[in-house]
Amino acid sequence: MKRATPAKPTNPDPKAAMHHCLFCKIAAKQIPSAIVYEDEELLAFKDINPAAPVHLLLIPKEHVATLSDCDASHAAVLGKMLALVPKLAAEHGCKVTYDADGTPAGGYKTLINSGPDGGQEVYHLHVHLIGGPRPWAGQR
Ligand code: 5GP
Ligand code: ZN
Repeated sequence: MKRATPAKPTNPDPKAAMHHCLFCKIAAKQIPSAIVYEDEELLAFKDINPAAPVHLLLIPKEHVATLSDCDASHAAVLGKMLALVPKLAAEHGCKVTYDADGTPAGGYKTLINSGPDGGQEVYHLHVHLIGGPRPWAGQR
């Protein structure tokens, strides 16, 4: 039976989905967020419910529901998103550093949840950047 107000979008048409999409509204500045990076294609902002001292979300401005909806045509924007992670991590004090012996310190987790079994709650592709000194409060 079809639900009147589905919790998750079931329509694969990205143009139909984006009207109801929280992160499209954040990208359009219709909903406020703590923005830490923006360019013509990407936006990064602080997660409203951080799982760790640093918890950023990095999105493409153009609506794509999940990583599962991506193909080779998304390779450039996906690459751009991943390449932005080290810069954001450095700016937020959680980049990986090495001491004189080459022992690593610091660091972060980079996470993309996809679909219900992947634990995705917001159906607009996003990369989590989760880091800072442990212990972390959230279980990510
Ligand atoms: P997912 O579970 O889909 O991978 O992650 C969605 C993330 O979006 C969660 O970590 C959640 O805290 C965050 N989130 C949900 N609503 C908002 C919001 O309105 N603003 C911000 N900044 N983050 C949100
Ligand atoms: Zn969207």
